[in-house]
Amino acid sequence: MADKQVTSEELLNRILDITDGLYNEMRQYESEGVDNHVKIYNLLADLGRTIVGSDRASFWKWDKRTHELVTTAAVGAGEIRIDEGTGLVGKALLERRAIVTNDPYNDPNFNSSVDKKTGYVTKSILVMPIVSCKGEYIGVYQAINKLDDERGFDLEADCKRLSLAAFICGLTLESDLFLDDSQHDKLTDIKNRMGFHSDYKSRFLPILEERDPEKPVAMIMCDIDFFKKVNDTYGHNAGDAVLVHVAQILSSAIRGADGVYRWGGEEFIMIFPGTNMDEVATVAERIRKNVEDSVCTFEGTDIKVTMSFGCGVLTADKSAEDNIKVADERLYTAKENGRNCVIWDKGVYSHGKPRTGSPR
Ligand code: GH3
Ligand code: MG
Ligand code: MG
Repeated sequence: MADKQVTSEELLNRILDITDGLYNEMRQYESEGVDNHVKIYNLLADLGRTIVGSDRASFWKWDKRTHELVTTAAVGAGEIRIDEGTGLVGKALLERRAIVTNDPYNDPNFNSSVDKKTGYVTKSILVMPIVSCKGEYIGVYQAINKLDDERGFDLEADCKRLSLAAFICGLTLESDLFLDDSQHDKLTDIKNRMGFHSDYKSRFLPILEERDPEKPVAMIMCDIDFFKKVNDTYGHNAGDAVLVHVAQILSSAIRGADGVYRWGGEEFIMIFPGTNMDEVATVAERIRKNVEDSVCTFEGTDIKVTMSFGCGVLTADKSAEDNIKVADERLYTAKENGRNCVIWDKGVYSHGKPRTGSPR
C-alpha cells in the first residue's frame, strides 16, 4: 500500500495543496458566473480521501425532489443515483450516524453491483452523514478502501479525520440547496424565472452558440385562460390547486434535456433543445389537448381550464428577452384568437373549441 510511508509534513502539504485549490476555485466563480460546485466537490472528495487515507471517495447529495441520493463528486467513478434510504449511504442518512463496514460483501446493505460491473474489490467502507449549519442531514461522505491499515476503517478515528472535509462539504451543500430553493417555485415545485435564466445561460445558450442548424432550440410560452375567473368562482386556494395541476401536466410533457418554468402568475415557459418549429407546435398542441381533457379536483369540486400557447425557435443573435418576446407575442395572438389554441410561425396551428367567459 503506497501511502504507508507518508510523513506528517507530506500529508500536511497535500492537504494544503487541496485547500489552495479550493480557495482558487472559489475565486473563479464570480468572474465566470458558475453556479454549480462540481470542481469544489471534487476537491473536497480528494481532501477527505487524502486525510483519511482511502483509495476512493465520493460525496452524495440528498435530492429531496427526486427522492434520490446523487454523487456530486466521485473520485474514480461517474455520477451515480440511488433511491433514498437504500445502500450504506442511505442507511447513514436515515439513521443519522456514521457507519463502518470492513467486510462489505457480507453486509446486506452493501450494493456490490458496481464492483461486479467494474471488477473493483471493496474491502472497507466508511460512510459519514453531512450536516448543514441548521443541523439538517443533507448528504453523505463515503470513503472506500482504507490504504494504510489492513483492518480497514476505525469509526471514531477516521470520522475525526474526515470532519474537516465533512464540515466544508456541509457548508457547500447548504449553499447549493439555498440556490436550488431560490430557483424553484414554492407552489408548483417547478423552476421559477430565476431558474429559467440560470438554465438559459448554462444549458441552452451554449447550444444556441454552436449555431448548428441541426440543433434548434424551441420555446413554448403558455398561459391559463380566464384564470382570474377560477379565483373569483372557486376561491384563491382552488386557483392554487389549478396551478399545481397544470404544472404537473407540463412537467410530464418534457424529457430530461427540456425545461419547464413558472414565468409568473399563471404563465409558463417550456424549452426544448433539439426541436424545430414544426415539432414544437405538435408538442404544444398535445399539451393543449391534455390540459383541455384534464380535470382538477379541489375539495370535491371538478375544475376545468384551457390554455393558450405561443411557439418560437430561439436564436443566438437575440437576447433571452427578445427570444421570449417572439413566443410571447404569439401567445398574445392566441388570446386574441379566442384562446385555447396554439400559434406558431404560420399562424393558428390548432384551435380547440373556442370558449368565452368562464371556467367550467
Ligand atoms: P387571460 O385568458 O387573458 O389570460 O385571462 P386571465 O384571467 O387568465 O388573466 P389575468 O391576467 O386577468 O388574471 C390572472 C390572474 O392570476 C390574476 C391573479 O390574481 C392570478 N394569480 C396570479 N398568481 C396567482 C397564484 O399564485 N395563485 C392564484 N390563486 N392566483 C394567481
Ligand atoms: Mg391567463
Ligand atoms: Mg397571464
